Amino acid sequence: MNNLAVMYHYIREREGWKGIFPLSPRDFAHQIDTLSKTYDIISLDQMDKPRSRPWCILTFDDGTKDQYINAFDILKRKGVPAYFTVMSGPLVSGIIPVFHLVHTALSFVSDEEIWERIRSKHDTTGIEEASATYSYEQDRLRRYNKYMLNIKLTTEEATEILGAVFDTLFPDKAKFIDDFYLTEREIKHMHREGMTIGVHCHEHLPYCGDPRQFYDKEIKPCREYLKGALGSYSEWYTPAFGGGVHFEAMREQLTPILIANGFKGAFSTVPKEVPQEREFWIDRIDCANLGHSR
Ligand SMILES: [Zn+2]
Repeated sequence: MNNLAVMYHYIREREGWKGIFPLSPRDFAHQIDTLSKTYDIISLDQMDKPRSRPWCILTFDDGTKDQYINAFDILKRKGVPAYFTVMSGPLVSGIIPVFHLVHTALSFVSDEEIWERIRSKHDTTGIEEASATYSYEQDRLRRYNKYMLNIKLTTEEATEILGAVFDTLFPDKAKFIDDFYLTEREIKHMHREGMTIGVHCHEHLPYCGDPRQFYDKEIKPCREYLKGALGSYSEWYTPAFGGGVHFEAMREQLTPILIANGFKGAFSTVPKEVPQEREFWIDRIDCANLGHSR
């Protein structure tokens, strides 16, 4: 039987955040109980040791506060290890990535208002067909907004539209970052309690096609931040957006640089189980699709 790595993002109730699809803490706890019946839930450094049952690894992306308050709390109570990754941009330079601005804006501002702001400034020809990638969104304008903000517009264009909305909602940006992301103290606490901490990104950008530049811009700053906080270099990497549309080129070009810098493995968003002998890149099943994977 194959092993399994599970991908988690928000672990929380929605509580007004209509722009996100979280897993509730209760459902998270239930998943751990269900997984434990089939798998040994292990930490990353136990992956290559032989065992009688298949293993399962719980992985967390984006380093949001709910993961500390809810997921870490549940994991501690159950005595289960997990792997958390950090995004250093907000913590180091106060930059909130576009996709989190999108989650926030879509939670608290109507889709009509955001769509109006986009349409008044940008060409939206062909939006109905192009936005089909967000077909899981029931609302038409929500699909349009997500497509324009996450895919069509440049980071600068999207930030200009969302930044204005965000500033009205959260005038104190430093407080927002403190409330929304893991703080250094919380990262240290999780590490002390046996959780593995890895590199997610600095500004949450997809792979740009230049491995050296990408390493220096997106990986190195986060790795150095974690070295400062935890005293040792992290050995695990989970790219933002699974690398993005160029993820295959990323795997090929970036892997030698990762290995040369001491990384022992990295995690994809390819929804597959993990073979007995794991490779450098480890595929992951999204927690929302756990039921369908077996
Ligand atoms: Zn991410």
